[in-house]
Amino acid sequence: MAVQTTDSPVKMKTSEENLLEVQHLNKFFNVGSGVVKAVSDVSFTIKKGETLGVVGESGCGKSTMGRTILRLYDATAGKVLFEGKDVHKLGSREMKKIRRDMQMIFQDPYASLNPRMTVGDIIGETLDIHNLASGAKRKERIQELLKLVGLKPDHINRFPHEFSGGQRQRIGIARALAVEPKFIVCDEPISALDVSIQAQVVNLLKDLQEKMGLTYLFIAHDLSMVKHISDRVAVMYLGKIAELAGSEDLYAHPLHPYTEALLSAIPIPDPEVERTRERIVLEGDVPSPMNPPSGCHFRTRCPHAMESCAKVEPAFQEVMPNHFVACHLYNEEIMGEKVRRV
Ligand code: SF4
Repeated sequence: MAVQTTDSPVKMKTSEENLLEVQHLNKFFNVGSGVVKAVSDVSFTIKKGETLGVVGESGCGKSTMGRTILRLYDATAGKVLFEGKDVHKLGSREMKKIRRDMQMIFQDPYASLNPRMTVGDIIGETLDIHNLASGAKRKERIQELLKLVGLKPDHINRFPHEFSGGQRQRIGIARALAVEPKFIVCDEPISALDVSIQAQVVNLLKDLQEKMGLTYLFIAHDLSMVKHISDRVAVMYLGKIAELAGSEDLYAHPLHPYTEALLSAIPIPDPEVERTRERIVLEGDVPSPMNPPSGCHFRTRCPHAMESCAKVEPAFQEVMPNHFVACHLYNEEIMGEKVRRV
């Protein structure tokens, strides 16, 4: 099979069907005398109505990537095209317009809601910023949004502390929906919630997507929950995408050793299978993004690391249709032949 280069995820689909195109995005931070490469040469696309899940351990750069896409951080290099417009090149008036289309749901519903504001004011603030409704219409719209996320219209005068964690996340979702966005970065929206509540919030996001034609970038550190909401999943490690594939495909045929390790950590509900299956335990911690390993960033923890892994950075290539991986095991140009066949 012909191997494509690192540009492939951008080139494989036309811009018309893509709502978002991220091209060679970098976000570095200067820290003391060093540089943290939080996001390093990341490229992908998201189609209208699609959900791309992004998974990786904490500190892998996934939240920084989400914020850089929304231009909450300036990009160090690369492009973010939203409906063909380069988000990082827009002037303030155009940026304000596009901010309506691109919203964010935050990880911590406790911290992201102002405890001194009523629910009505929290949601209404977003309507005010964009001059979307005033007076009775404003109240009506807030109540409609509360109903949309499964809360009651009379919750409008209550304060955040009167709600459970799941309900607070619903308020955060209503706030994001107030401006009728097209695209939402969901930044670990379920991580702070009880397991029993997580599925409810994921189901709500799926329902809203269907009703409103939303497009999501869904960030999580847990591969198991991402599966239920994502059409495709990107696995990130130390600022880079290690693997990207259709959700079913990734879970059934993981190719990157890091994805294999993450998947092997998910408990299987069948006790017989759970007892006999092989678990891959990764040694050591994620290295510092200030001083990532040479060659493949994953090599210090990879059970399959070879000599070439320290010398040459693996290219991000399409090794099966719509299945991309950055690993020398699948690269015959580096190895003379592919170590692993797909
Ligand atoms: Fe492991 Fe080498 Fe593949 Fe990196 S390139 S994941 S170190 S085998």
